[in-house]
Amino acid sequence: MTDCEQGATESMCWLNGEIMPVTQARIPVLDHGLLYGDGVFEGIRFYQGRAFRLQEHLLRLSDSAAAIGLPLPLDQAALAAAVAELIEAFSAPEGYLRLVVTRGEGPLGLDPTSCKRGNVFIIAAQMALIDAEKRRRGIRVIIAATRRLPVDGLDPRIKSLNYLNHILARMEAGNAGAQEAILLNARGHVCEGSADNVFIVRHGVLLTPPVSDGALDGITRRVIIALAAQADRVCREQTLVPYDLYTADECFLTGTGVELIPVREIDGRLLKQCPGSVFTSIQQQFHALIQQETRETTGTVT
Ligand code: PMP
Repeated sequence: MTDCEQGATESMCWLNGEIMPVTQARIPVLDHGLLYGDGVFEGIRFYQGRAFRLQEHLLRLSDSAAAIGLPLPLDQAALAAAVAELIEAFSAPEGYLRLVVTRGEGPLGLDPTSCKRGNVFIIAAQMALIDAEKRRRGIRVIIAATRRLPVDGLDPRIKSLNYLNHILARMEAGNAGAQEAILLNARGHVCEGSADNVFIVRHGVLLTPPVSDGALDGITRRVIIALAAQADRVCREQTLVPYDLYTADECFLTGTGVELIPVREIDGRLLKQCPGSVFTSIQQQFHALIQQETRETTGTVT
């Protein structure tokens, strides 16, 4: 659900130090990011000209890169400066950034050491999200037959350029007339949506699967866990199975792209509340937090 489509504002790209309209940005066909999905990325929101939780995104990027033995061609300060420069060049104060680091150009063949330097690019775009009415009423999701890759296959904490099984899950959702798919791990435990984390509410308690069950350590997920604590609301990481989703009082998804979105229906079962009272109050807290953090004036890093 984080599909990034070009809105009325022209999408821009920072590519290895140069800013240009995204339609002019080019990556060589021998880049291993393209050939093998060998690379890492981040999706980052900016509000009022400031990147939200940039530091956390850059840390996660650096961890993803370390986990696949990819030396980042730029340090954190240089990446933050590139982000700021691109936001400045983009003609709207709000949007979405896609920061990608590829293994770089090299001869055919998997060997990553044949690539001398990674390519770095950042795209700034406006998000054409799910329409406002669906967002308000809640979305339909399915539980996909396609499973999340096992933790010992590709650790879900690595935000890599390999999204094929998530894309297959999303195709299943589309074929079923749903807007999003939830992936299970090989044991049948709930992991996450194709591009978002999952929360349910049961008797006022928030529950989300532990990342060790196979979810990305989502930055929005972290924010929600912190906001719950702030509001003295119990929030636990707990293994969940489809039954827990079908019988939940509320369910919602979180992610940089979707922000927070309530779920109305899962595999044809209507949830008890949508949008539920817990969702509504957390969403208010979330919007207040964004306002507060993007109002702060020290530097561009939030
Ligand atoms: N899971 C997956 C697979 C994702 O791609 C995303 C989007 N980055 C998320 C969860 C949500 O993470 P975040 O809140 O950091 O955007």
